[in-house]
Amino acid sequence: MTTLGAMQHWPLRVMRLVDHAEREHGDGEVVSAWADGLVTRSTWRKIAKDARRMAQALEALDIKKGERIATLAMNHGSHLTAWYGAIGMGGILHTINPRLFEDQLDYIANHAGDRVLLYDQAFAGLVERMKPRWPGIEHYICFDPPTGSSGGAAGDWAFADWIAAHDGNYTWVDGDEREPCALCYTSGTTGNPKGVLYEHRSTLLHTLVEIGPDIFNLSKRSVVLPIVPMFHANAWGIPWAAPATGCKLVLSADYRPATMCRLFREEGVTHSAGVPTIWLTMIEHIESTGEQPGDLKQVTIGGSAAPRAMIKWFRNHGIDVGHAWGMTETSPIGTCGARPLGWEAMTDDEQIDYISRQGRVPFGVELRIVDDEGVELPRDGHTSGRLLVRGPWVIQRYFRAAEDSTDADCWFDTGDVATLHPDGTVQITDRSKDVIKSGGEWISSIDLENAAVGCPGVAEAAAIGIAHPKWDERPLLLCVRAPGSEVCAATIRNYLAGQVAKWWLPNAIEFVDELPHTATGKLSKKTLRDQFRDYRFADATDMVGRD
Ligand code: AMP
Repeated sequence: MTTLGAMQHWPLRVMRLVDHAEREHGDGEVVSAWADGLVTRSTWRKIAKDARRMAQALEALDIKKGERIATLAMNHGSHLTAWYGAIGMGGILHTINPRLFEDQLDYIANHAGDRVLLYDQAFAGLVERMKPRWPGIEHYICFDPPTGSSGGAAGDWAFADWIAAHDGNYTWVDGDEREPCALCYTSGTTGNPKGVLYEHRSTLLHTLVEIGPDIFNLSKRSVVLPIVPMFHANAWGIPWAAPATGCKLVLSADYRPATMCRLFREEGVTHSAGVPTIWLTMIEHIESTGEQPGDLKQVTIGGSAAPRAMIKWFRNHGIDVGHAWGMTETSPIGTCGARPLGWEAMTDDEQIDYISRQGRVPFGVELRIVDDEGVELPRDGHTSGRLLVRGPWVIQRYFRAAEDSTDADCWFDTGDVATLHPDGTVQITDRSKDVIKSGGEWISSIDLENAAVGCPGVAEAAAIGIAHPKWDERPLLLCVRAPGSEVCAATIRNYLAGQVAKWWLPNAIEFVDELPHTATGKLSKKTLRDQFRDYRFADATDMVGRD
């Protein structure tokens, strides 16, 4: 028989977050900027009460513990309430990404077995089209307008009316800390999306770690505005982190940079987070209008590699950058870069080099790199290999999958290629399928892109491998010019020559009006590869000199 210690049994369940916020930060603000420009204010006290009402409303619909409750919505307080309401009654919150293709939406709601869908009015048309394809969804509830009658289709509930019929006198459904609480599908580039089923315990451990100074650095003094949708890996966990710290949470359904800048200033935002594409549009906006981001002190950039030029821009504006790597399968925080000991003694360039890497693991995450045979590779700062990860908030098995997605030692293959440095930092060099294989060696498409956006006049860049008779693949660089710029290929090439090895230089540079992005705002290399499938370099026999 196991002998237990003599401390209290306190299962790590998500609802403890909202209980804590209600008790300790009851007046703590949650601000919502709705798609139509309306700004509403709530508190943790009200959110907790409304979540209880919603839990009662779900039970009145005969929803049972373990069943899936889906949302198709942008960021706002009612969506947040629904998260806690769904999980509080023992349900599994399934956040659906509305930017997926309709066939994918069809697949995931049916695969998840969703019974209820809560949606934004902005997606009402999409919901109407999908209803015949979602036979399992019995109840539709429209979130907005935030008060009063529905903006949704006839017969659908209005969220405010739906929960108003209940008194909020409710006790959260209890259970084991390893029970599931949330489901999020990854928008894979091939095959059907796959569901990642988060647990109460994994979510709570992830929350406790990510509020720390080396990751989101959140406290009671912070005002945080995630510019990450709540359907993208749970907005990187920020809606769990906010009630843990009691910081003010600002949620916006509108990601236009002018709205963001206004919210930064009017709400006193100190911390924000988003993918590089979001920051790119924000920087362009600030540069062209002269608008200022108020008291913004720290931004976390993740989801794709943060270009050096972007990191520099924030530094020049007195804003600290945390560079995070992770994936839906890692809840999502895997690593994050923050100032190390000795930071002040580092030169400007050394500091930027440091933050350009994807940081280090927090306690709880373990990483290793391996070769194609699975043999562990050294952490020497130059060998690169397949990145494996494990830890209590890392996936074991996809939802409804017959088999684990890890090896026998629980290592999950991320599909990323990385170098581990002796100082503990990680450098993601590519997705294994995006890396450009030239003459038996690898060219990092990420490094090429990041170098290219450092060239004045280049707004965004993407590098893909194009078949080459001699070298197997060679890089093609696709660039979007910054507004008003006339930068030409020769200028970019000359600029790159000072940044990357000679044999990495792209064989061709083409200009495009825009680059395709995935449903989570990342460059869609797959779409680009499809678009440029028949592309051939003008001089395909060209020898590529090595340094
Ligand atoms: P998702 O599950 O959609 O969030 O995508 C996860 C993938 O995004 C990772 O496997 C990486 O390929 C990529 N990714 C996330 N963060 C970074 C980063 N900071 N630098 C480079 N790639 C990143």
